[in-house]
Amino acid sequence: MLTVIVPCYNEEEAVGYFYPELIRYLKPMKIDYEILFVDDGSKDKTVEECLKLKEKDKKIRIISFSRNFGKEAAILAGLRESKGDYVVLMDADLQDPPKLLPEMYEMVSNGEYDSAATYRVTRKGEPPIRSLFARMFYLIINKFIEVEIVDGARDYRLMTRKMVDAILSLTEYNRFSKGIFAWVGFKTKYIEYENIERVAGETKWSFWKLFKYAIDGIVGFTTAPLRIATYMGTIVSFMGFLWMMFIVIKALTIGDPVSGYPSMMAIICLLGGIQLIVVGIVGEYLGKTYMESKRRPNYIIKEIR
Ligand code: UDP
Ligand code: MG
Repeated sequence: MLTVIVPCYNEEEAVGYFYPELIRYLKPMKIDYEILFVDDGSKDKTVEECLKLKEKDKKIRIISFSRNFGKEAAILAGLRESKGDYVVLMDADLQDPPKLLPEMYEMVSNGEYDSAATYRVTRKGEPPIRSLFARMFYLIINKFIEVEIVDGARDYRLMTRKMVDAILSLTEYNRFSKGIFAWVGFKTKYIEYENIERVAGETKWSFWKLFKYAIDGIVGFTTAPLRIATYMGTIVSFMGFLWMMFIVIKALTIGDPVSGYPSMMAIICLLGGIQLIVVGIVGEYLGKTYMESKRRPNYIIKEIR
């Protein structure tokens, strides 16, 4: 059996397009399936639309959250509830083309790969500044982490039950799926495709949401930024020491007329800035540790239908 997990947040317009398109490719695959719509606290008629589909297709299940918990939580709930031997994650907006599904299933079910994942080679229809930041993010994170996250990788991915169980064995609260998928390993085939614009509705990701998501990713998978303080501190102390020697010798040999206010201000501001940044970085990690230590559930399920 194949489980299709579809996180939905305010997708009332999209699900009506999504379902027939999915079925068009799912039916000829001649495999038993279940479709899990995870309603992430939608404020529109998403659930009603899903219930309409459920009337026609008994293989649909709908998990409703008590409020919006974010896509990561929806993915986690879907994976936990999934019963299939194979599991695929798909967005509701048809940006993850169901057309690729038979090919992905073929690769994984014949045992060649444990997972078939997708990535976009283009970012057509996206603001250029966002693409630039996305590129930078992948460059930075891949420098520091031990596994590789493919630039443009989507969450659209078909996996074996073994891999799903491995993902579920990671119990952390701050879940950065792109990193977790890479971290658990397994043989993965990457399929590329051109970016597709969403069929209806609009994106839930603002620039700041993505920025925070990027920081979560980095903080969740590497502690390298914490070392910045050590490196900076070493460099600055060394330079400070040299300068101190210079000033002392100068005062002893040629005397010391009072001057240097501008340079002192510049140095105070520079060091103050560096210290604040470093405290901020330590704070990021402390905050994450705090949230982890609370051991709160990632989501609350209101109802499963
Ligand atoms: N989504 C979700 N919870 C959220 C935000 C998004 O379940 O808080 C779902 C959304 O319904 C969609 C998928 O995650 O199915 C991807 O969201 P979106 O299309 O807005 O992101 P983009 O494709 O623009 O990156
Ligand atoms: Mg989308």
